[in-house]
Amino acid sequence: MAEKRWIAETLFDQLGFRMTFQVDKVLYEMQTDHQHLVLFEQPFFGKMLMLDGATQISKRDEFIYQEMMSHVPLFAHGSARDVLIIGGGDCGIAEEVLKHKTVKRLIQVEIDPAVVEFAKEHFPEFTKPVFADKRFESVIDDGAKYVAKTDQRFDVIIVDSTDPQGPGKILFGEKFYAACRRCLNKGGVLVTQNGVPFFQPSELTSTMRKFRKLFADGSCYVAAIPTYIGGHMAMGFASDNAKLRRLPVSTIAGRYRKAGSFPTKYWSPEVHVAAFAQPRFIAEAVAKATGRR
Ligand code: SAM
Repeated sequence: MAEKRWIAETLFDQLGFRMTFQVDKVLYEMQTDHQHLVLFEQPFFGKMLMLDGATQISKRDEFIYQEMMSHVPLFAHGSARDVLIIGGGDCGIAEEVLKHKTVKRLIQVEIDPAVVEFAKEHFPEFTKPVFADKRFESVIDDGAKYVAKTDQRFDVIIVDSTDPQGPGKILFGEKFYAACRRCLNKGGVLVTQNGVPFFQPSELTSTMRKFRKLFADGSCYVAAIPTYIGGHMAMGFASDNAKLRRLPVSTIAGRYRKAGSFPTKYWSPEVHVAAFAQPRFIAEAVAKATGRR
């Protein structure tokens, strides 16, 4: 019997360790114009996508990240009509956003057409409902170029990017965040993926410092995602309305009921509010970077 292949996540090589996954079958592997893409079947996590040696999505735990990156900003805002996703080519977050009936328009700007094409083939549970939804528009472009030139305005911007390497690097820059702020309507919310602070502290603190300069309020919320090794993952939250990340459970629960209480597997009004209670080492890193609590 042929030796099973193991695929390693090389994201933390500089820290001297690797997470390796036994592979049942490689479904798709290619060097695209932007990054190395491998999709494989894993005995426990199911389908898994890696870009440039970093885990992007696994079928078994994707719901945690997708729900927290979409329902937290949308229920914090409360009446978002126009939403922009930067990155997110697998369409997992788009599928969650479109569960909100208040949303009238969703634009997704993904740099790599190969990611969208392979998602149509391998993640139809996301792409089918999304591409069938008239509110959805898929744009292939560099997210930084898009927000720098568009005259569109949004209530919520979700940056579902890769880590600050390769094509994703520019999405952690001050110029990009400033352009996102320019595209936000009054009371708008920007959320960003900021890695796992235990292993990638600067991926969070560098964003927090930039949020401090650009927004009335900037901080992060957390969730633990098994395939994003390292404990809590941090998601940046910025707005010119400092009340939005401090709303009580009763307000969020009311908005959830009004939205039809659609089924979720991780997000709940209680988890939403609790996610902003940062573990002390993260809270201190954020406070140091932003000068605020
Ligand atoms: N959840 C994953 C994570 O936390 O690492 C991210 C998933 S999503 C697949 C990341 C997407 O960002 C990829 O499809 C990648 O092609 C896209 N991306 C990277 N840089 C980009 C850029 N400059 N503009 C638009 N999309 C970009």
